[in-house]
Amino acid sequence: MLNFERVKIKHEDPERRLKSFTVEPVLEYTDGEGTAEASRCIGCNICTQACPAGLDIGGYVRSTAVGDPAETVRIVFENLPFPAIIGRVCTHMCEDICVLYDDGGPIAIRHLKRFAADKFFDYSQVVNLPKRNFINKKVAIIGGGPSGLTLAYYLLIQGVQVAIYEGLPVLGGFMKTGIPRYRLPQETLDKEIGFIVSQGAEIHLNTKVGRDIKFEDLMSKYDAVYLGIGNHDPRMTGTPGSNTAGVYHALNFLQDVSLGSKIDVGKSVVVIGGGFTANDASRTSMRLGAEHVYIMYRRREIDRPGYPSMNAEEEMEETVEEKVQYMWEVTPFEYVSENGHLVGVKYWQNEMVIEAQGRAKPVPKKEKVLYIEADTVIEATGQEPDFSFLGDKYLRQLRLTSHGTPIIDEKGMTSIDGLFSGGDCTNAIRDLISAVRDADRATVGILEHLNVMDQIADDKWLPVLDRWKKYSATAGRSKK
Ligand code: SF4
Repeated sequence: MLNFERVKIKHEDPERRLKSFTVEPVLEYTDGEGTAEASRCIGCNICTQACPAGLDIGGYVRSTAVGDPAETVRIVFENLPFPAIIGRVCTHMCEDICVLYDDGGPIAIRHLKRFAADKFFDYSQVVNLPKRNFINKKVAIIGGGPSGLTLAYYLLIQGVQVAIYEGLPVLGGFMKTGIPRYRLPQETLDKEIGFIVSQGAEIHLNTKVGRDIKFEDLMSKYDAVYLGIGNHDPRMTGTPGSNTAGVYHALNFLQDVSLGSKIDVGKSVVVIGGGFTANDASRTSMRLGAEHVYIMYRRREIDRPGYPSMNAEEEMEETVEEKVQYMWEVTPFEYVSENGHLVGVKYWQNEMVIEAQGRAKPVPKKEKVLYIEADTVIEATGQEPDFSFLGDKYLRQLRLTSHGTPIIDEKGMTSIDGLFSGGDCTNAIRDLISAVRDADRATVGILEHLNVMDQIADDKWLPVLDRWKKYSATAGRSKK
């Protein structure tokens, strides 16, 4: 009998994974499982329309089905130099639109990418890069995160020199400092970032532009500059008691843990916020030894960021399996301390009131004050990009959207000639695969801006832009 059901991925036992930062919750398909799952794909490529980076998903799922993972990796590399990373942490919107969603379940596109990529320790044996001579052009990339690294890779393989300026002592950006190691292992980061750097990138770690080197010097020294600085400026809520020791912003908390700090979170942790960062902070707290971790969110479960999507469901399932408790429709209003030590959080229960536009607004019921003990509070609520390092002259020239992000043209260039931008500091989606898309676009934009299209190594190795247009005449699951 034919079996059209999605091949279930196995998960590590929650008790075991909570004991370590290196045990991945999601296990890998066996060879039989991976090829069986890939074989369900009908190759319609509807999913490509939902992939921000426009990967040839039908193509690489097909090569996986016929047992050719090397070809899978080659196809992915047409647009994305991180198959094993994205194969673990992608928001995989492609699966939400797969035509098989209601017929046995969507193809496990994300797991299949990891399944193929993890078979290779060294991509240089798989990805047959073009022979190139470096041309006399050099690009500065500010920020060594997913967007900057992607741009570095595609420019380097075309023979354009790049220098990456990173304020931290490590490369990877949010992949390294925002996503915990149990979801994204260090070996995976090392393998994929190492492959990019090995193409000849010049790396300046611990080098903050604006502090260690002037932005205007980069603008004059390089032929183009790319802003890939992410969205790393934490914004605290300002709740009374925020200055107490034991109150963190999630970005600082996750970064410190990622860089090796041993934070004593105590027995009880309250995380404020309802998005993916709140989940990561709560699960990290459990691994740091907390006995009780609560996520407080002011709206309903169905209002949480990223919902509805398979990704939001999966992450919440894993978080609940790890005994984190969600508290919906609550408003914390004071962090309580005794003798300088945080001891708890005062909060109100909310009532959801439907507004004229149909959106439910949380309204605190202030007549009753509730209280929960807490040794640590982590705010996973707000963050913004910080462009102050540009200096007054360039800040005046940089045109911003109403959200405070740079306005870019169809090539990724800002209002400043020669200054490109992408990733979380620029796009509203703020996920890894969208950051990759921005860098793909900027690769072509920068090469055209430098007027070197006739000197590059091989245009076959340019990122494939707008692949989705080829498939846009057909409709996905939502129009069945
Ligand atoms: S939409 Fe689903 S069935 Fe169609 S190509 Fe993508 S993964 Fe395969």
